[in-house]
Amino acid sequence: MTATASEEQLWSRCVGCASLLYRKRLRRNLDVCPECGEHARLGAPERLRQLVDPGSLRLLPDQLPETDPIDFVDVLPYPHRLSAARASTGLAEAVVCATATIGAHPAVLAVMDFRFLGGSLGCAVGELITRAAERALDDRVPLILITASGGARMQEGVLSLMQMATVSQAIAALREAGLLTVSVLTDPTYGGVAASFATNTDLVLAESGARMGFAGPRVIRQVTGRALPEGFQSADVLLRHGQVDMVVQRRSLRGRLGALLAATRATRPARPPVPRQEPAPRRERLADAAPAAPAGGGDTPAVRDAWDTVRLARHPGRPTTLDYLDSVFDGFLELHGDRLGGDCPAVVGGVARLADRHVMVIGHQKGHTTAELVARNFGMASPAGHRKALRLMRLAARLGLPVVTLVDTPGADPGVSAEEQGQAAAIAENILTLTVLPTPVLAVITGEGGSGGALALAVADRVLMLENAVYSVISPEGCAAILWPDRSAAPQAARALRLTAPDLCRLGVVDEVVPEPTTAAHDDPAETAHRLRAALLSNLLPLLDVPPAMLVRLRRQRFRRFGMARGGARAGAR
Ligand SMILES: [Zn+2]
Repeated sequence: MTATASEEQLWSRCVGCASLLYRKRLRRNLDVCPECGEHARLGAPERLRQLVDPGSLRLLPDQLPETDPIDFVDVLPYPHRLSAARASTGLAEAVVCATATIGAHPAVLAVMDFRFLGGSLGCAVGELITRAAERALDDRVPLILITASGGARMQEGVLSLMQMATVSQAIAALREAGLLTVSVLTDPTYGGVAASFATNTDLVLAESGARMGFAGPRVIRQVTGRALPEGFQSADVLLRHGQVDMVVQRRSLRGRLGALLAATRATRPARPPVPRQEPAPRRERLADAAPAAPAGGGDTPAVRDAWDTVRLARHPGRPTTLDYLDSVFDGFLELHGDRLGGDCPAVVGGVARLADRHVMVIGHQKGHTTAELVARNFGMASPAGHRKALRLMRLAARLGLPVVTLVDTPGADPGVSAEEQGQAAAIAENILTLTVLPTPVLAVITGEGGSGGALALAVADRVLMLENAVYSVISPEGCAAILWPDRSAAPQAARALRLTAPDLCRLGVVDEVVPEPTTAAHDDPAETAHRLRAALLSNLLPLLDVPPAMLVRLRRQRFRRFGMARGGARAGAR
């Protein structure tokens, strides 16, 4: 817990009111400005010091093997950025995990640190938080997550997206065990962290002044071209919109957490400890792995540039979910509505037959013409869309129907009302629910698999991907705008992100590539449908014989291994 350079300075200026404050006085006041009440951001070590009972803190191991699963290079190689973050913060990663007591109540805490690469969620952060949750399960104590993050870590590509599922299923296990989970949103909490463990906990507290959302304000302003409402995504507005349980001043946080732990103190019977699942063996680094041939036979595709694949995935002639429902399935009966006040046209779902077996099909719907695209919001689901999908997934499990999802979305809806209606929590709940859904789930990335909006339909027993589909933690344009001088670097970003089907097959994120006709799906939709149907049947039929409890166990193993995606050595493991 080294002091940073700024902590050694004697004076600091409040970002709220610009008062010049004596540093020691500010720290005594928990880094809350005595003049205006502005809550300055805290590093994880200081946060822990403020929250837990003196002398009770025990840090959990934080050493993991080196991280660079996709050999990502933008203007700087990723390992350089990691080393700089370590040097400036004195931390191993963007989260610090510990056991401690708060008001004499034991808990496990995972505290994110925004100073470390923007608190971004990568494989190591996902692994450390998952281990913290597993420790809480072993010790039968509550888990407290203090979030501060810009979102998933782009430099680890779609593997960072997988962490949303990995941590969510650990939270699901705590739910099943009747153990309390609490998240405390601190400023800022965005993206993949907001759309998973920041909002799918039992209780969500927001520190005064915190902002939380899935899409950031800059992106929403760019997309909508409008000024944002007063206080947009701020703790007080989140409270008004029903997104958080309470807004808490920093000086009250420790007392409030202690009171919540006391109120929910388990009088549960102890149960025998569940044997811990060992992570799957080490995965090969992408760069070392042999190229994988697409399964399912057919044409051997020429190697295509990632950016060309992005353009094919977005081609307006590419078959949509409704096209496949017509060509691959029979007797589709569309079901509408989230039962909470909306029906989202960007998500379609209902029962259909696949070779005379009934299935629940849920997919994103784009369109071929501008009018269709606008009517379907370009396949970008609103919270109502995610909640409709959730309703249909649960219904499928109750009725014993397998779920087939067709993923084709640029991402979730980057709009003001989507945020106000709880977009992050809606995505988070779908991800968590899919990790425990007791029925077979088969996902196909058919076009664009964009970020958390895609993952909300893609936590599955088997994940297939059409040959010219893409699946990514962020759009190449978005990545280029952040890590390169400008968006014109999108083609380079597309290559660096490893978002093509063969790449993702090598990383184990995708199980099988469904080959497309020689040019692409839009040139021969009938042949594409024929191949997709064959792939669906060959993957779905074996799942039908697996007992539901076993399916869920295997699905969890599938996603648990991504935390260790880049090294099997359990350095620092207990
Ligand atoms: Zn101030």
